[in-house]
Amino acid sequence: MQRPAILETVRERSELWDIVVIGGGATGAGSALDAASRGLSVLLLEQDDFGKGTSSRSTKLIHGGVRYIRHGNISLVREALKERSLLLKNAPHVVHTQAFVIPCYGLWQRFFYGVGMKLYDLLAGKHRIGKSRRLSRSETAEHLPSIKARGLVGGVLYHDGQFDDTRLLIDILRTAVSHGAAVLNYSRVKTIDADEIGRIRYVSFIDTLTGEKHRVAAKAVINAAGIFSDAVRRIQDRNAARHLSFSQGIHLVFDRKFLPSNDALMIPKTPDGRVLFCIPWHEHLLVGTTDTPVENAILEPKALESEIDFILEAAGGFLEQKPARSDILSVFAGIRPLISSEKTRKTSSLSRGHELFVDESRLITITGGKWTTFRQMAEDAVDKAIEIGGLNREKCRTENLTIKPPEMSRNSGERLHPTLTYTRDDVVRAVRDEMAQTVEDVLARRTRALFLNAQAAIEMAPKVASIMAEEMGFGANWIKAQIDGFDRTSASYHCEPQ
Ligand SMILES: Cc1cc2nc3c(=O)[nH]c(=O)nc-3n(C[C@H](O)[C@H](O)[C@H](O)COP(=O)(O)OP(=O)(O)OC[C@H]3O[C@@H](n4cnc5c(N)ncnc54)[C@H](O)[C@@H]3O)c2cc1C
Repeated sequence: MQRPAILETVRERSELWDIVVIGGGATGAGSALDAASRGLSVLLLEQDDFGKGTSSRSTKLIHGGVRYIRHGNISLVREALKERSLLLKNAPHVVHTQAFVIPCYGLWQRFFYGVGMKLYDLLAGKHRIGKSRRLSRSETAEHLPSIKARGLVGGVLYHDGQFDDTRLLIDILRTAVSHGAAVLNYSRVKTIDADEIGRIRYVSFIDTLTGEKHRVAAKAVINAAGIFSDAVRRIQDRNAARHLSFSQGIHLVFDRKFLPSNDALMIPKTPDGRVLFCIPWHEHLLVGTTDTPVENAILEPKALESEIDFILEAAGGFLEQKPARSDILSVFAGIRPLISSEKTRKTSSLSRGHELFVDESRLITITGGKWTTFRQMAEDAVDKAIEIGGLNREKCRTENLTIKPPEMSRNSGERLHPTLTYTRDDVVRAVRDEMAQTVEDVLARRTRALFLNAQAAIEMAPKVASIMAEEMGFGANWIKAQIDGFDRTSASYHCEPQ
């Protein structure tokens, strides 16, 4: 993944690309990998950094979605459970099996969730990754040592997948590049033009790091712009109807001491009916999420005070030691792209299924869905691009395609911050092999420092900036601008005391 070399290829190319993909989140990266592995020429354009959108802000679960069983959305659960087992097989270096325990405060609850999780196992069929079972009161306390003991009658144990979202994303992109894909971050699509018979052909974009403008021609264009999909459709057709609704979800990150266990806690029904997870993640505790309808698509959304209060209150209701606001190490928000429905305005009831549609101009839009189902979404989008662009009809190969682990291994060098395991090597690798361009790229998405501990990330920024400057040949002005820029972004991850 060498940005200058890829830019040069784009400048020099005179033939049409088979496919241009707009958006460098899970869906776009998956589409680039799918297309390249079928032997198609593909260029992916991301306006900011890879994963800057929703794909860095998930709950980090590769899951069927237990709660969709309650909503009766069985086919969605089945599809996601199949994808879960494919990801465990194809990316074992970054996706692993995670045990979850549902604590039960009534016998009926234990029976009900026990049956529900058996159904989850059953739906997984041959893709099952562990057998769910009911736990006694003492077994539950053993699995979750800090669970609130008063009224506890037992629990239910089940298994799902867990991962690091942007680490998987970068590995998908690197694998796509190894199959011949061209991928560019900081490349914002500005216009999408049709030829004389009204078919999409030309995409122009600006390199937001240098201001250089580019225009490329393609046989098919896939719009994988997540919450910005409607906005991208309107670049081409100002009157394109709105397809999406938005729902914000936030997470809080704490020290592991609040749940000192390798197992995760799943609360299927908080007092206001939501699902809440407390998950061990990179030696920290990740707690979320919320489901708050929002009007606008924003690249760097901010947690609402009401969402922070809700998570503190809901998690505190199940833990012996209640986390306080001052215990929050990081808070991050993300916005879900959900397919709108005439039937309901309640975002928690909107389907998490994906949708593929084609505008009159033949722009292919793939949106909705989940991280877990990105591979299937990409397959559907590339199948459609083959049909629309009249491309070589190769079969999808990603079901059996290994996603490459990073090539440069990490050493045990000196930590950049005493509370996090990251070293100089992580920064060097991010610059040399993973197309990191800014301090934020390194601290937020190549390492996860900002998502784990915002204060530590802020303290690491000057060291990271100077290592990057050394690698990239920049001077003092660049270092200062990077640190200032990172201070501004990181402010909303840092939870000030009230
Ligand atoms: C709080 C929360 C928790 C979640 N938890 C889970 C979970 O645990 N498991 C799970 O499976 N799913 C989860 N999801 C869902 C999952 O994260 C999303 O479905 C997925 O990340 C969407 O990926 P995407 O590629 O479609 O969109 P994005 O990741 O948003 O990518 C779209 C990209 O398009 C780019 N773009 C926009 N306009 C342009 C332009 N003009 N030019 C170039 N690029 C452009 C954007 O910058 C963006 O990076 C969660 C979602 C949220 C919000």
